[in-house]
Amino acid sequence: MSGASVAGPALAYWLCRHGYRPTVVEVAPALRGGGFAVDFRGAAHLTVLERMGILDEVRRHSTGGGSAMSFIDDQGRQLATLPPEFAGGDVEILRSDLSRILYHHSLTPAADGRPAPEYVFDDTLTSLTPTPDGVHATFARTQPRTFDLVIGADGLHSTVRRLAFGPEQDFVSHLGYYVAAWDLPESARDLAARSVGYSEPGRVATVGRTPRRSTEPGYTGEAFCVFASEEELTHDRRDLSAHKKAIARAYEGAGWRTPELIDTLWAADELYFDSLSRVDVPCWSTGRIALLGDAAYGATLGGMGTGSAIIGAYVLAGELAASPDDHSAAFTRYESRLRRYVTQCQEGGRGTGEFLAPTTQEAIDARNAALNDPAARTAMLQQGHALSTALTLDTPTPDRPTSHAPGTAIGTA
Ligand SMILES: Cc1cc2nc3c(=O)[nH]c(=O)nc-3n(C[C@H](O)[C@H](O)[C@H](O)COP(=O)(O)OP(=O)(O)OC[C@H]3O[C@@H](n4cnc5c(N)ncnc54)[C@H](O)[C@@H]3O)c2cc1C
Repeated sequence: MSGASVAGPALAYWLCRHGYRPTVVEVAPALRGGGFAVDFRGAAHLTVLERMGILDEVRRHSTGGGSAMSFIDDQGRQLATLPPEFAGGDVEILRSDLSRILYHHSLTPAADGRPAPEYVFDDTLTSLTPTPDGVHATFARTQPRTFDLVIGADGLHSTVRRLAFGPEQDFVSHLGYYVAAWDLPESARDLAARSVGYSEPGRVATVGRTPRRSTEPGYTGEAFCVFASEEELTHDRRDLSAHKKAIARAYEGAGWRTPELIDTLWAADELYFDSLSRVDVPCWSTGRIALLGDAAYGATLGGMGTGSAIIGAYVLAGELAASPDDHSAAFTRYESRLRRYVTQCQEGGRGTGEFLAPTTQEAIDARNAALNDPAARTAMLQQGHALSTALTLDTPTPDRPTSHAPGTAIGTA
């Protein structure tokens, strides 16, 4: 499988539980750090974490929940408050902590001696060619190999999707916004004395005061910026310096302490920067190749992408184990069980950019008025809750014994 962030290690864990022997190739030289907090919402997310045996560990590393954020004017005066439930869900954790937990958990040798996944870092697939019994894969760095199945868990800009399904523009819609997040240095601590967001039409600059890790008590600050851009930015996605320049350009002339905030960007080693985009792939599989997580049904920000990735891994592995000799049937059931749910989640994230960074002053005022209206606020929270409970995990497939013998492992790349 391709990608070792959230979906990849989660699927690797479940496949090993079923006796498969997955190989995970990750383009980064090591597990990627960076990224702000992601959250889990509702019974389905928590049930899967529990069935994986990591719910307690995720809770131990949780940020302690989202904190309320005030929208302020250019003098720092409070205009409206975003309740903590909006941001933090049931359990909130740094994406990097979650990825590390999933990775280590996938490697924990099963008590009955079943194989652990193989991780290959610093490499990427360069071609995928179907053969009668598998998929022949070539890599940028390591030797070609043939696998029984290939799963693309390599995110919004998936290489597996490009190689096997078609160009990115056929599947990824830009939603007109970009998001950037980075940690604030110690010297800018007072900027994040409280969680605030400063809005101007088409851009919001927020600072968060987040209780971050149970292992590192205290508070750290993080910057989180969302800005409108109808045009898709054309830059190398791996060019950190180009990202920083694009963000700085988007905040030129902004009021409040935004210039001070943007100044902290230049020293940031890690930065999350991407478009708010939605992925729609008409069919998540082709032959022996399937997509999972953001690669199949991503929805940056507000679309519960992390929870959907975890659920997808659980369902996909369960279905493969349920029909070890019929991957097509397994892929079809995986998709039919999940598509409606993830589409609803994606829809939930559709307005996130416009909510955080409305493009007119009237829309900013209307957003603030709604947040100050208890009835409107309750309605917004109820909408989020309805979505988070829209899936029932009715079949505990991963816990039922599989007919797939451990010795006849299916390899996935
Ligand atoms: C560094 C980073 C920071 C993020 N920060 C946030 C955040 O702060 N908040 C948020 O809501 N979401 C964030 N996300 C996205 C979030 O993790 C996903 O929306 C969600 O968890 C679904 O996960 P995923 O595993 O499907 O995709 P992703 O988490 O995007 O993971 C994809 C993985 O595939 C790898 N990859 C990409 N191309 C290749 C290739 N050619 N070959 C091999 N591997 C490849 C990537 O390096 C990455 O490890 C971040 C993702 C990354 C990679």
